[in-house]
Formats: sequence, C-alpha cells, structure tokens
Amino acid sequence: MWLYIVIGIGVLFFLIICFCLAVANFSFDNFKEKRKEALSYRAQSGIFIRDFVDVINERYLDNALQVVRCEEYNDHFSPGRIALSPSILSSNSLASFSTIAHELGHGLQYKKGELSAHWQRKKKNRIFGKFFLPFILIGVVLAVLGLLEILPQYTLYIGIGFFALAFFIFLIACYTKYREIKVEKGASAYGIMFLKDVMTKEEVKICEEFLNSARLTYWGSLFRTMLGWTMLTKKESMFN
Ligand SMILES: [Zn+2]
Repeated sequence: MWLYIVIGIGVLFFLIICFCLAVANFSFDNFKEKRKEALSYRAQSGIFIRDFVDVINERYLDNALQVVRCEEYNDHFSPGRIALSPSILSSNSLASFSTIAHELGHGLQYKKGELSAHWQRKKKNRIFGKFFLPFILIGVVLAVLGLLEILPQYTLYIGIGFFALAFFIFLIACYTKYREIKVEKGASAYGIMFLKDVMTKEEVKICEEFLNSARLTYWGSLFRTMLGWTMLTKKESMFN
C-alpha cells in the first residue's frame, strides 16, 4: 500500500517537473507565435493606436503618460512614459492594442501606488542576490576544510549554514518572480478594462488570449529560475 503511494507521489512529482520544464522552455516561442497571429488581426472598430493611447491617457491617467520608442520585445512602462517597439507602434493590430493596453495598465497601477512595493521588493532582491554566490563558495570551502579535518569539525556545520542561507536567498528570488506574475496579471486586467471601452467582445477575447500567452512567459521565467540547476532548461538570472 505505502509503496503505491510513494510511487504515485514520485510519478506526480515527475509530471509536474516535466510540465514546468515545458513552460520554461517553450513559453517564449508560444508567445512569439501568438504575437505574430495577433499582429495579423486588424481592429475592426477603426480606432488608431495613437488615438487609443490618447483616450485612455486622458480618461484614466490624467494625461501623464508620454510614448517613446524601444527595441523589439522590450515594450515596458516606466514612471511618466511607456516605451513601445516599432512593430507595435506602426500597426493597428490587436497585438499592438493588447501590448499598449497592458503597458497603460501598468500606468494605472503606478498611479494607484500598486507598483512601488513591487519595485522595492525587486531592489531588495537584487541586494540579497549579491550574497548568493559568495555564500555558496564560503559554504563549499568551509565544508571541505571541515570534512578533511584541516579545520575543526564544526566548520562543516558553519559551511552547511551558509548553504542554507544561499537556499533562503534562492527562495526569496522565486517568491519575487511569483509576485511579479501577479503584478503582470493586474496590469493586463486593467488593460482589458481599457480595451472594452473601444473594442467588440470578440476582439477583446483575442486580446485576452494574447495577454495570457504573454503572462505565460513570466511563469517560464520563474520555472527557469527554479529548475536552471537541472541543466534541462536555459539558466535565468535569479535577480533581474
Ligand atoms: Zn508588464
């Protein structure tokens, strides 16, 4: 009986790891695919991208946002501006509307004070991150010296303590990435609210699917951070 339970848990664990690896490795390709698809849908309502930005900027954001250009796939929000890539700015596609709506969503999050806690968390995470590798190295050196009895045996335990601290930092990094997914979800929810102002139900649905595939890339980033050590997925910086 117990044997079956243990085997069951083992199989379940294996399947979960496989699923996470699949998301880690293919979420960005999936996003690129969906982006291409959504770039080919024209918005039927006849509204232009620039007008959409102006309408939302005025209606929700006190006209406080400026649009600037950035590199492809690097669309982002920073206080006072949204940076958009050329292919997004130049087309009237649903991919463009979705991306811009999402970035405008960050604008509303910023206005409501929902972003500052997240940014502070990321900043702290980066500072913690500087200790990660040194702690592991100190842990290895102390553990080896303790094991070889070059230093007293308790050195081994101090070494293990440093490993534990490094592991704690790793957990913080994973948690911060997880919180980031929540922030992204919030921005997309605001974005969908903006899109509903100017688009048909069907169009909003396509935009929603596209934004979901974009969010999957953040899950991919979390799983890459967690599973980089398996060497079965690309490594991800834990502290970006
Ligand atoms: Zn975002």
